[in-house]
Amino acid sequence: MFFIIGGIQPKTIIVDRQARSCPACGHYEAYLKRVDHYLSLFFIPLFPVKKGNPFLICENCKTTFDEHGYSMDVGKTAGEKKCHHCGRSIDPNFTYCPYCGKAI
Ligand SMILES: [Zn+2]
Ligand SMILES: [Zn+2]
Repeated sequence: MFFIIGGIQPKTIIVDRQARSCPACGHYEAYLKRVDHYLSLFFIPLFPVKKGNPFLICENCKTTFDEHGYSMDVGKTAGEKKCHHCGRSIDPNFTYCPYCGKAI
């Protein structure tokens, strides 16, 4: 009879140690990382079962971006609009900006 203490564990891999400038705060503290899932046995990662997509994370402001530097925290919803006056992202159904009150 088999008795296996194991499972799938996420493991963060630093893909590129070359610091990049963070699109959000401008600091050169953004690193390209990837979360791979490893099959682990007795809490020791044995081999990767799933490769994650690389993403950029800033050590300074903790903002995550995709590998091209686009923020993954905002702009996820399709058809999102930005106010031309204050630059904040708003619901596309709005006619007036809720932040600055100007017509869009
Ligand atoms: Zn940053
Ligand atoms: Zn506005």
